[in-house]
Amino acid sequence: MYSEDDLLPLTGLQNMLYCKRRCALKHIEQAWADNFFTAKGSVMHDKVHKEKSEYRKGVIIERSVFIRSYKLGLKGKSDVVEFHKSGDKFIPFPVEYKSGRAKADNTDKVQLCAQAMCFEEMMNVKIEDGAIFYGKTRNRLNVKLDESLREETSYLAQEFHSLVDIGKTPKEEYSKKCDNCSLKELCLPEIFTKKSVKKYLAEIINDEKAI
Ligand code: SF4
Repeated sequence: MYSEDDLLPLTGLQNMLYCKRRCALKHIEQAWADNFFTAKGSVMHDKVHKEKSEYRKGVIIERSVFIRSYKLGLKGKSDVVEFHKSGDKFIPFPVEYKSGRAKADNTDKVQLCAQAMCFEEMMNVKIEDGAIFYGKTRNRLNVKLDESLREETSYLAQEFHSLVDIGKTPKEEYSKKCDNCSLKELCLPEIFTKKSVKKYLAEIINDEKAI
């Protein structure tokens, strides 16, 4: 169990899955830069968070709800949460908003699952499903919160805490993901992988030694 002071931002999980270096730049070095995709995401989230609470056919819809889990050591905000009546209880059904389209990996799903696990801990309920709304395709993907997704989410939360505790940013390593990463200009993932640059730096060092 973590204490209140140990809680890390829940959004760090998707960065952990995307790239540990990105996660460290953001959460250890507090470095951040927006690109087209992150700015679009922020606009969408601001819009969703500003909408008012609603009550529709037995479902209460709340926005921008603060959540936390001492088991996972995470805190954050749920974009939208629908409370569905079940017997004498209201069961939360978290809905995460993304501006793009559904991804092949689990980056969005672990974020949704972590939100559900926070609600479970806070309200002492079991949540079976949640959903992700994708702005680009305007579709809502229902997500089963199964054991394997829960294990992956818990594992990433532990890894995230270890990374922050160690406090060391992993080395840059270029991959295709870097081309869509908003931190590319800060990270410079290609610079040390190009032979010509290595050669160029070696030449400069040799020149300086010769003076
Ligand atoms: S540019 Fe690439 S290596 Fe650097 S933080 Fe982004 S994804 Fe990671």
